[in-house]
Amino acid sequence: MRRSFTFPLRPTRHQEIALAQCLEDHRQLYNAALEHRRTAYRVAGATVRYGEQSAELKHIRADDPEGQGRWSFSSQQATLRRLDKAFAAFFRRVKTGHKPGYPRFKGRGRFDTVTWQKDGDGCRWDSGPHHPTMTFVRLQGIGHVRVHQHRRVLGTVKTISVRRAGHRWFVVLSCDDVPAETLPPTGAMAGIDMGVASLTTTSDGDRLENRRHLAASAARLAVAQRELARAARGSRRHRKVAARLSALHAKVRRQRLDAAHKAALVLIRTYDVIVHEALEVTNMTRRATPQPDGHGGYLPNGAAAKSGLNRSILDAGWGVFLTILSHKAESAGRELIAVNPANTSRTCAPCGHRAKENRLTQAVFRCTACGHVAHADVNAATNILRAGLALRDAARAA
Ligand SMILES: [Zn+2]
Repeated sequence: MRRSFTFPLRPTRHQEIALAQCLEDHRQLYNAALEHRRTAYRVAGATVRYGEQSAELKHIRADDPEGQGRWSFSSQQATLRRLDKAFAAFFRRVKTGHKPGYPRFKGRGRFDTVTWQKDGDGCRWDSGPHHPTMTFVRLQGIGHVRVHQHRRVLGTVKTISVRRAGHRWFVVLSCDDVPAETLPPTGAMAGIDMGVASLTTTSDGDRLENRRHLAASAARLAVAQRELARAARGSRRHRKVAARLSALHAKVRRQRLDAAHKAALVLIRTYDVIVHEALEVTNMTRRATPQPDGHGGYLPNGAAAKSGLNRSILDAGWGVFLTILSHKAESAGRELIAVNPANTSRTCAPCGHRAKENRLTQAVFRCTACGHVAHADVNAATNILRAGLALRDAARAA
């Protein structure tokens, strides 16, 4: 199994400058290679391929020993490959008749990752193995950079990447042959409903990860964004608010990741089979529709009140959560099933009666046919579980 591990870097001031230069030179290499392809096509109708550009590297490095020549051949090749992939995707889109979108030049601050293709080639993970407490990664042209290694690395390190996020730096290891950490079977299955008030609610009635903290950060984010819109561009105030905004964004990302990891861990430990809603755009906006109260206003249904930015922040968390859940499920040997979410929230789980009126408020479900009353999310999660098991049976029968 392939898996990646991300750790914060603790570069010295000197190393930080070198890291920034490394990114900048790779960005310029990317842009130059893109310009080369464009010109060749415009002037001669010729298609330039990765192989040709890679062969040029030798000369580029020789001509610029203090600049491009400082960095690893391997990371420069990876950058050219990245451009090659962008072109391959472009041609694929042209072929399938999608809106193509020609590969673009990367502006300053729009190029945040450099990859070394092979551990030991211009980079070395754990370059100071005899240090009693610290971990280092050696990067050509930068040196031995300290790593905050907060967990064990499993498998064999294949590629090493450095990523910049705001003022922070990270190292990402992509590892092969990572052993699966299978968990013992529990015999339990659950459907999960992804909601606004809780990240998920299970068909057993457990509500995982109250999202109050995330919602509070989202509210502060909205305030900061309005403030930024009012501040004059280029002013001191504008810079200050922008800095606060980016710090808040980072905080929201951390909170979201943290909540997703916690909830996914609970589910993976408890259930052998987990059924969730397939995320689609319609699903993302379904719950945001405000309920008119008949007097020109809207019913306070929770979801409707959380509109705009706040909502989109909570919604984005579902995608992150499902990605983490699927990684953990694969690693633990659990089964994950995605189902179409249509009607799961308006169908009565015990009797199957389907009506919009069943859903009294965001939180309360009461069946107009059989009188069944339940928390709306638990009712939905039960329907999701049933749909998943039906899919599974159909797949087995086929
Ligand atoms: Zn019913």
